[in-house]
Amino acid sequence: MSEIKVRFAPSPTGYMHIGNTRTALFNWLLAKKLGGKFMLRIDDTDKLRSKEEYELSLRDSLKWLGLVWEEEARQSARFDRYNEVVEQLKKEGRIYACYETAEELEFMRKRLMNKGLPPIYERSALKLTAEQIAAYEKEGRKPHYRFKLVDGEIKWNDMVRGEVKYEAKNLSDPIIIREDGSFLYHLPSVIDDHDFGITHIIRGEDHVTNTASQVQMFEALGGIVPTFGHLPLLTGKEGKLSKRLGSLGVRELKAEGIEAMAISSFLAKLGTSESIEPFYDLESLAKSLDLSKIGRSQPKFDVEELETFNTKFIHGAPYEYVKGRIDADENFWNAVKGNLTFVKDITAWEDICHKEVKPIIEDSALTEAAADLLPAEPWNEETFNLWVNEVKAKTGKKGKDLFHPIRKALTAQENGPELKILMPLMGRNKAYKRLKGEAA
Ligand code: GLU
Repeated sequence: MSEIKVRFAPSPTGYMHIGNTRTALFNWLLAKKLGGKFMLRIDDTDKLRSKEEYELSLRDSLKWLGLVWEEEARQSARFDRYNEVVEQLKKEGRIYACYETAEELEFMRKRLMNKGLPPIYERSALKLTAEQIAAYEKEGRKPHYRFKLVDGEIKWNDMVRGEVKYEAKNLSDPIIIREDGSFLYHLPSVIDDHDFGITHIIRGEDHVTNTASQVQMFEALGGIVPTFGHLPLLTGKEGKLSKRLGSLGVRELKAEGIEAMAISSFLAKLGTSESIEPFYDLESLAKSLDLSKIGRSQPKFDVEELETFNTKFIHGAPYEYVKGRIDADENFWNAVKGNLTFVKDITAWEDICHKEVKPIIEDSALTEAAADLLPAEPWNEETFNLWVNEVKAKTGKKGKDLFHPIRKALTAQENGPELKILMPLMGRNKAYKRLKGEAA
């Protein structure tokens, strides 16, 4: 069996968004699960719309998500190879020149539709005589080129959709080269997949019809046909995935404080029969990958659900997950994480321990008595309970009436992590002054 290899093939005509992140993720996870390789292919044949800025950003986003690649290629560097294949396929009669203008093609489509027929290209170009071609060329018409499909059934076993079947005669021969000589996506993609030994391709279901003609292109190249999986496209809350959501950038989510692994955990299970649960590393997410669990209907993507999930993700995150990104130790992380919306918010709690806080005094008799009962340092997590019991005995306060004024004096917050963890970190000096009503 040949080596497993998958690829992610973005066109650098925009930033990484939720839609292409999902495609990249599924391919990466499949490679990981099958012990194969992940390749990045930059589909930059569209010179006008491709921008370096987008490509750099796509690379950054992939790295941030942890979707690292082991190999890469760029389509704009491979035109010689594409032209070589085109010449070969022309000789074999699989690529042919067409001279219809866009208006003529539109007219032909309309004529067929008016007759109640499907608008399939009738291969009129193949019926042109040498004289007609010479006349067109003299007129200054430039040919575009189509790939000739062979009659018969095209079928594949889709990793997501199961068996998919097409009759070639129900498809138009795809245009592969435009009048100006530029390539459309179809053929270069197949040449690359063939040359780089791509074995599995996961992409959006908007490519299913392309796949039908591409299966024949793989066969024309004499190579293996990769295994395909077509994911149902995401939709927004109100049906179609809106422009805003569809292009919701990974950069924006990152800036907001959404965790890369929260995005991956969320996208990997959205629209599957499994529940969306946090995975704290891509390897375990890859182990859980099961493409047969992907439903056929289009899953709804709601950014607010992702945000809510992100909070749940952070509340459950083990220290290992954030180690190296935060100053706090494991104890502090475990005490504080349940109060965080974003990991970056941890600094607010660190500041409460280490920087100046203006206390809020609700019951000065209680908090002043509490200050006077503070034991000498060193403090540990036991200190708080021993001390609070003494305060309780002395003041007769209990429950909320006891804890709430102490919390507000020490932290100036309504809620927060356990005081037994925060107190030793702020130290006796700050605790004493705050309980006495002084900023410290
Ligand atoms: N560049 C193509 C796209 O972004 C790649 C499609 C494919 O995966 O074959 O749609």
